[in-house]
Amino acid sequence: MMNTELYIDGRWTAGTTEIENWNPSDVSDLIGLYSQASADQLDEALAAARRAQPIWWAAGIQKRHDVLMGIGTELMARAAEIGRIVAREEGKPLAEGTGEVYRAGQFFTYFAAEVLRNQGDLAESVRPGVEIDVRREPVGVVAIVSPWNFPVATPAWKIAPALAFGNAVVWKPANLTPASAVALTEVIARQDIPAGLFNLVTGPGRDVGQRLVESRDVDAISFTGSVPVGRGIAASAVTNMTKVQMEMGSKNPMIVMDDADLDLAVGHAAGAAFGGTGQKCTAASRLIVHSAIHDAFVEKLVVAAQAYKVGHALDEGTQIGPVVSESQLTQNMDYVTLAQQEGAELLCGGTRLDCPTEGYFMAPTVFAGTRNDMRINREEMFAPITCVIKADSYDQALTIANDSEFGLTAGIMTRSLSRASHFRANMRAGCVMVNLPTAGTDYHVPFGGRGASSFGPREQGRYAAEFYTTVKTAYVAAGTPE
Ligand code: NDP
Repeated sequence: MMNTELYIDGRWTAGTTEIENWNPSDVSDLIGLYSQASADQLDEALAAARRAQPIWWAAGIQKRHDVLMGIGTELMARAAEIGRIVAREEGKPLAEGTGEVYRAGQFFTYFAAEVLRNQGDLAESVRPGVEIDVRREPVGVVAIVSPWNFPVATPAWKIAPALAFGNAVVWKPANLTPASAVALTEVIARQDIPAGLFNLVTGPGRDVGQRLVESRDVDAISFTGSVPVGRGIAASAVTNMTKVQMEMGSKNPMIVMDDADLDLAVGHAAGAAFGGTGQKCTAASRLIVHSAIHDAFVEKLVVAAQAYKVGHALDEGTQIGPVVSESQLTQNMDYVTLAQQEGAELLCGGTRLDCPTEGYFMAPTVFAGTRNDMRINREEMFAPITCVIKADSYDQALTIANDSEFGLTAGIMTRSLSRASHFRANMRAGCVMVNLPTAGTDYHVPFGGRGASSFGPREQGRYAAEFYTTVKTAYVAAGTPE
């Protein structure tokens, strides 16, 4: 029997209500009924976190290192088993689910080592006889609100640094992926940690999530999700003077120049556009292609898109699983209609697919003849849909790429060192990729974007310390010995 409860103050607890969790690859497969936290249970979790945090900080760096290493090691060892839960409820293929859980483990082992590297600075004072040191201390209680598309990895890259730097956590996962949340919580709860240090409060975003981000008992909020929800969170964070960090949508461009290795470009573009059913904030959604190779590129891209095996996430050989939910699929189909109304040319896909099981399957979709001012090139679709925009020169391609309110990742496919270097320097994005897909990042370096894509300090790598700690400057006058 799978656990479906909340985890509050060191105990598994039933919620006041439940939601049904269905498999998007097979809508007849009910995964389970999952607990939803009440307002009182959320308050209980916040109070428990407040009590636990100083105990955890006082436990010291060896203890924190060992706990994080224990969590990371278990996640990596059980990646296939937990990856199956991810694949079943989120719809990504089994191999991707397994890879995601393994990566989540790496975030914990990386931050286990960062625990030992939390070293401060020493300074001389301008006043003789005074010594100064600068240390990083925990911010306190961290609220984590995470999405469904990476239901284990995204919370892991937030929870690991939060715990590493001595904070307590109250986590509100996406309601579409509660089983992954329970699985990750079980691994964390198995460690010898103070009761209340880590709390799982599953529930609706507009209710439990909203109450959590508006709470004055929270010292910092880390959020990944949509721009509108992010804006609301930023507003409540400012009201309470709560530290906030947010990763939101994007409209990542990939420029394909006339000197690119065409097959490599097609492979990277298709992989970044359709991998994870296009439900990645790093997906390549605007393909800006030089006119000299445009037709050849598009022809090969359509072949690549049509070659993908779309199917049940748990089936051997599936490369693209279903869309996560019925409402997301409806939204995708609405974008297909909109694209055609805007004058884009549908080259392939654009349809729902029939598979042996009834699920939310959609064919990888390519639109050509699109302009950057069309809504399909302005708004994040989070769908297996990509749009080709023709450009006549490198300069024009770069201008189009930069013409977006977002700026998370961006790529260029070129063999020219000067174009690649110019692009690195002049592309307004948090992550720039040369001859690589826009999706796919490492775990030990910062991740984040510019513009409407991100707000607040960066996530991941040693830059994560900026958000999960607060700096204290101490002045000490020791005096003269008697
Ligand atoms: P949301 O932004 O609604 O959800 C992200 C998280 O925020 C979930 O845990 C959600 O809870 C929670 N939440 C929702 N409303 C509130 C609120 N008022 N206060 C606090 N927390 C809240 O994204 P969706 O899942 O609805 O997806 C919609 C679109 O967002 C996608 O189509 C995509 O464009 C974008 N998105 C981007 C992601 C990214 O990685 N950049 C990830 C996911 C979505 P609950 O699940 O209960 O609603």
